[in-house]
Amino acid sequence: MAEERWIPETLFDDLGFRMSFKVDRVLYELQTEHQHLVLFEQPFFGKMLMLDGATQISKRDEFIYQEMMSHVPLFAHGAARDVLIIGGGDCGIAEEVLKHRSVKRLTQVEIDAKVIEFSREHFPEFTGPVFSDNRFESVIDDGAKYVARTDRRFDVIIVDSTDPQGPGKILFGEKFYAGCRRCLKKGGVLVTQNGVPFFQNNELTSTMSKFRRLFADATCYVAAIPVYVGGHMAMGFATDNKRLRRHPVKTIAQRYRKAGSFSTKYWTPEVHVAAFAQPRFIAEAVAKAKGL
Ligand code: SAM
Repeated sequence: MAEERWIPETLFDDLGFRMSFKVDRVLYELQTEHQHLVLFEQPFFGKMLMLDGATQISKRDEFIYQEMMSHVPLFAHGAARDVLIIGGGDCGIAEEVLKHRSVKRLTQVEIDAKVIEFSREHFPEFTGPVFSDNRFESVIDDGAKYVARTDRRFDVIIVDSTDPQGPGKILFGEKFYAGCRRCLKKGGVLVTQNGVPFFQNNELTSTMSKFRRLFADATCYVAAIPVYVGGHMAMGFATDNKRLRRHPVKTIAQRYRKAGSFSTKYWTPEVHVAAFAQPRFIAEAVAKAKGL
């Protein structure tokens, strides 16, 4: 009888706790040029991807994160044509972005070609529609180098990165955020994954203090994603257009209808607007980080 394997998430070792996942089958395991990658079947969460001991995606609840990282900035903007994704190698967010007919060009800059390669094999539900869409462009590069060099300009930039460790560390730096600001068109918006404030408070507050120096309006919105243990996940939201996060449900619902009311499992116009209502401990951390 083969010994049972459990894979631990080591992201919170410094907090003295670990979450472990029972493994039905390891589908793919590799030390790439950039990080340790393991993809496995889990009895409850289904297919799960871990990079350097941190959970990236589970098939059971990926829709929450992917929908909130894509539809909130796109419907807040209302007329986005050019979109940039930094990271996002599993293509889950790209698939959601391409549901928006207004989007004319989507560029994804992922550092690790291996993540794309195995996602084409193991996440065809994402990569299939994405790679067959001629609006999509896949670039293998360090996102920080790309935003520092490109002469392209974008309406929306979505940073679907790993946590601030290994190759993802540079994507939490002020230089990178300044590079994103340089690439944004007037009135454009930048969103970032900022971890789970209850356990990763600094991952949010350090970003908020940098955003405050670069953008007229900086805040975060939240969603609860079961596999990212710890309650609310925070998504950074930065723009020079202060109206973007203040649209009423009526406006977002109109834009959703105009976009063809495509299917979603988590995002709704009401959830969109409510997501900017931060629980007090998060609102206080954000205010303090912004020196308010
Ligand atoms: N949703 C996940 C999370 O919240 O942790 C992130 C998923 S996505 C798979 C993260 C991607 O960011 C990975 O494929 C990783 O290779 C990519 N990445 C990390 N650092 C990067 C960098 N400097 N430039 C571009 N992509 C990067």
